[in-house]
Amino acid sequence: MMEFRDLKTQYQKYKQEIDSAIQEVLTKANFIGGTEVKELEEQLAEFVGVNHCITCANGTDALNLVMMAWDIKAGDAVFVPDFTFFSTGEMVSFRGATPVFVDVDRETFNIDTAKLERAIRKTVEEGKLTPKAVIPVDLFGLPADYHEIERIAKKFNLFVLEDGAQGFGGNINGKRACSFGDAATTSFFPAKPLGCYGDGGAIFTNDDELAALLKSLKIHGKGENKYDNVRIGVNSRLDTVQAAILKVKLKAFIDHELKAVNQIQHLYNEKLTGIVEIPFIPDGYYSSFAQYTIKLKNKEQRDGLQAKLNEHGIPSMIYYLKPMHKQEAFSNLEAESKDFEITNELCDIVLSLPMHPYLSEDDVNRICEVAKG
Ligand SMILES: *Cc1c(COP(=O)(O)O)cnc(C)c1O
Repeated sequence: MMEFRDLKTQYQKYKQEIDSAIQEVLTKANFIGGTEVKELEEQLAEFVGVNHCITCANGTDALNLVMMAWDIKAGDAVFVPDFTFFSTGEMVSFRGATPVFVDVDRETFNIDTAKLERAIRKTVEEGKLTPKAVIPVDLFGLPADYHEIERIAKKFNLFVLEDGAQGFGGNINGKRACSFGDAATTSFFPAKPLGCYGDGGAIFTNDDELAALLKSLKIHGKGENKYDNVRIGVNSRLDTVQAAILKVKLKAFIDHELKAVNQIQHLYNEKLTGIVEIPFIPDGYYSSFAQYTIKLKNKEQRDGLQAKLNEHGIPSMIYYLKPMHKQEAFSNLEAESKDFEITNELCDIVLSLPMHPYLSEDDVNRICEVAKG
C-alpha cells in the first residue's frame, strides 16, 4: 500500500541528524524547556517573519491560549469557517464563547468573506452576542483571504486569529502564513506540513504584550517564575525532544520539502485537468499543500473513486465528512443548514489524494491513471 503521507521515508533520509538530535537531549536530560526550544522558537519566528513565536503542546492548545489571553468568554461570538477541523470551533466553546459558523468559498475552501460580513451584521442586529474575533483557517495549506478579512475585522473591531495548523509554509505575495491577523497558531502534529514525532504547536504574533501574557499562561500563569503564580493558566509546553526533531525538520522543510510538494501539485494538475476539479490557487497565493484535494461531480462519483483507488492500494482521505454545524457537539447552536450550502456540498464531493514531499512521479502517474479510469 502506498503511503498517504510518507513519514517513514522522511525519517530514513534524516535518520542520522534526527537520532543525534534526540540523543543529545537524552544526554543532557533537559527534557522541559531546553535550549532547543528557544532556538526553534527563534528560527520559526524568523522564517514566518514575526517578532514572537511561543511554542506549546499542540495546535488546539495554541488556539485556546490566544483566546484566554484575549479574555474571550461567555456572551462573545467568534466567527469560524464551517469547513475545518473540529478544534477551530471546539476551542471557542471551550472558552464558554459561541462559535458562529460561516460558509466557505467553493474554490479556495476558505471562509467566504461576503458571508462573514453578513454573519457579523446579523449577530450585531440580533444583539445577543458580542462579536469579538474571527478565526480564518488556511485550509489544506492555502492562506485565507486576509486582505479582505482584516478589512472586515477592522470595521467591526474584531481580533483576527489565523488558524495556520495546515498553512505553515504558505504565503500571499511573499508574506508568510502564520504572520496574518493579530496572532496566528500552528500545529506540529506529525501529518501537518511541518510535523514532529508526537504533539506540538506554536503561536506567532508581533504583539509584545500578548507574547508576554502567553508565556505566562502556558506555564501555570507564572510571574517571576513557575512558583510565583499571578493568574490562572494551563500547562502547555513543547518538549525539548520534539523541538530538537523540529529543528532538523524545519531545515528540510525550507531547503526542499515545501518546493517538492509544489512540484508534485503541478504533476497532479497536468494529469487531472479536465478529469476532476483540481485545487485552485489564486494569483499571488502559495500553498503548503497540507492536502491535495480534488472535487468530484457528486457523492456517488467521489465514493466510487475512493473505492477504486483503495482496490489499487492507493490511500485517500475525506477531509471533511461533516460540516461543523452538523457535529453533535454543536447541536445546541441550532444552526440552519441552508446557510451552509457550499460546505454541505463539499463534504460530499471532496477527496484528498496522497501528498507529501517524497511522493514519486511514478506514484502520481499511477494515482492519476486510476482517477482517469
Ligand atoms: C490539526 C488542526 C488543529 C489542531 O492541531 P492539534 O495539534 O492536532 O491540536 C487545529 N486546526 C486545524 C485547522 C487543524 O487542521
